Amino acid sequence: MSRIVVIGAGVGGLATAARTAVKGHEVTVVEQGSRVGGKLHTYRREGFAFDTGPSLFTLPAVYRDLFLKTGEPLEDCLDLQAVEPGFTYHWSDGTTAVLPGVGIGKAAEALGDALGGNAAHQWRSLMQRASDMWALTRAPVLQSPLEGLRSAARLTRSVSDIRTIAPFTTLRGLGERTFTDPRLVTLLDRYATYTGSDPRRAPAALATVPFVEQTFGAWHIGGGVGTLAPVLADRARARGVDIRLNSPVTSIALRAGAVSGVALATGEFLDADIVISDADASVLYGSLLSSDSRTTKVLRTLRRSTPSLAGFVMLLAVSGKTPNITHHNVWFPENYDTEFDEIFAKHPHEVTDPTIYACVPNDPAMRPDDEHESWFILVNAPRHSDDGTAGAMDWNTPGISQAYGKRILDLLAARGTDIRSRVLWQEISTPADLERDAGAPGGGIYGIASHGPLSTFKRPTNQSPIPGLYLVGGSAHPGGGLPLVGMGAEITAELIGRAKK
Ligand SMILES: Cc1cc2nc3c(=O)[nH]c(=O)nc-3n(C[C@H](O)[C@H](O)[C@H](O)COP(=O)(O)OP(=O)(O)OC[C@H]3O[C@@H](n4cnc5c(N)ncnc54)[C@H](O)[C@@H]3O)c2cc1C
Repeated sequence: MSRIVVIGAGVGGLATAARTAVKGHEVTVVEQGSRVGGKLHTYRREGFAFDTGPSLFTLPAVYRDLFLKTGEPLEDCLDLQAVEPGFTYHWSDGTTAVLPGVGIGKAAEALGDALGGNAAHQWRSLMQRASDMWALTRAPVLQSPLEGLRSAARLTRSVSDIRTIAPFTTLRGLGERTFTDPRLVTLLDRYATYTGSDPRRAPAALATVPFVEQTFGAWHIGGGVGTLAPVLADRARARGVDIRLNSPVTSIALRAGAVSGVALATGEFLDADIVISDADASVLYGSLLSSDSRTTKVLRTLRRSTPSLAGFVMLLAVSGKTPNITHHNVWFPENYDTEFDEIFAKHPHEVTDPTIYACVPNDPAMRPDDEHESWFILVNAPRHSDDGTAGAMDWNTPGISQAYGKRILDLLAARGTDIRSRVLWQEISTPADLERDAGAPGGGIYGIASHGPLSTFKRPTNQSPIPGLYLVGGSAHPGGGLPLVGMGAEITAELIGRAKK
């Protein structure tokens, strides 16, 4: 059995630690921060609670499998709750649609009722296509190790498969081809942001995201989705994993070309036969490893890729009840394209008229009493850099975050939901804060964006070119978001199992 060191106690690191520990390995997780979970976190203050990262939990089957294989079932450890209704969407023309938490047929009906015309039929037909895409991509791509373009070739065995996946069609292209109503195009566009991308450059296959959401449901965890982090850490500890907080890894050591351990900022050295990195892939290859000809190609691909967009987050303690508010709420702007133009510009600035997402859980464990609400607002934002890097802006500029926060609440009021006089207190988290708190370069939410037809196949693989070094987490294959990160943890644990046989 091997000595394994996992760098980072994000959900991917914890899941892989638990999965490898049950196979009998001696596993240590080293986390630079003072808590587990990384981006996955529920923040509590004065009786209010907010999910500061994931607020929507989809495809819980991935975590059911993890919990079953490492001990007791997920439902014995967490209060998994179906969210009903799922999302309320508000378009700039004043139309509102309330979609159910689960059921493509019901979602199509709700869209038909709200938008009229052929909306119901067209949404159903898109979801049928997405279902075919999901059947083709799930096992060979999302649940298998990535083998570069060979993985792409495995997918495209017949002309009809190629037609279904439409590798050279963008998500926007698919929307425009399928829908006559531009409001449906906007709705589909939004799912590109679930991978930190621009719908005009993201592949059509991202239509699988709403398919998964509406087929397997939108879920919440009682007390906050972030409660998954400490529960997962407890599971890992119960399987013998040692989790060390406040322990930044400064470098990975090699002996005879293979990993031999990690050096910590404390000066300590941990021997390891296997190192699993849950840190961002660009940090791993760019700074934790010394320059090595075997990793040059990966670094080059990473540097050429567009990094994921970031997010501007507001946590609001609100008194009173907001009429017609649901768990997940989205207000679209008049011009969605401008949002993406501004975010992915060479010299970006905060989005002038952004899409506003608010999570207001109807969860008594997340508010002091029934006369208060906890609001988590997320707005897509350009990345952070304070050294003039192209494609990023300086979120530490004095006054910028307070002014932008005020602007967002003003915009929300202009779009019909005015909570300004009821805000008791607020906290803001910018991309600069996420960079500092979760080690996410530029505050990017998802590693690299899915831009271009082959972007899926260009992500860093779970097995690195260095013997004994593996990757997991949102910046590696198969991508970010809780479901994909969970799938990546299974792939990485499986690769380690195979290598040790
Ligand atoms: C605002 C926001 C909203 C989101 N919404 C959703 C959502 O609704 N649904 C969803 O499914 N997903 C959502 N996501 C994405 C999801 O949170 C991530 O994809 C997922 O949590 C990433 O997990 P990870 O394993 O990559 O680890 P991360 O969370 O990235 O954690 C990596 C960990 O490694 C540590 N680390 C880094 N470098 C070192 C080092 N040198 N030494 C030691 N430790 C180190 C970091 O401190 C961190 O704890 C959201 C993310 C954000 C930020």
